Amino acid sequence: MCSCKSGEQAVDHILYDCKLLEQERDSLKAAALRTENWPVSKKKLINKFNNNFKKFTNNITLDKLQTIIVTSTNLYIEQGIVAEIM
Ligand SMILES: [Zn+2]
Repeated sequence: MCSCKSGEQAVDHILYDCKLLEQERDSLKAAALRTENWPVSKKKLINKFNNNFKKFTNNITLDKLQTIIVTSTNLYIEQGIVAEIM
């Protein structure tokens, strides 16, 4: 269970739903909304909005959440898996 108590602590939750990260998510969302509709796929976030995405992960102050998302996305990039991060 996530610290926000409203979902599982998985990548999708942290990226799109977690209430603890609303502020961090807003700038990523604003950048994406210039050219895309929200929610933007994880693949697009990583490939097209990489700078904003990195900012988002760097701004996450909850260590545990940041570890989950950084580890998962690094795995994703290394393996070049297209469909899903997890
Ligand atoms: Zn949460």
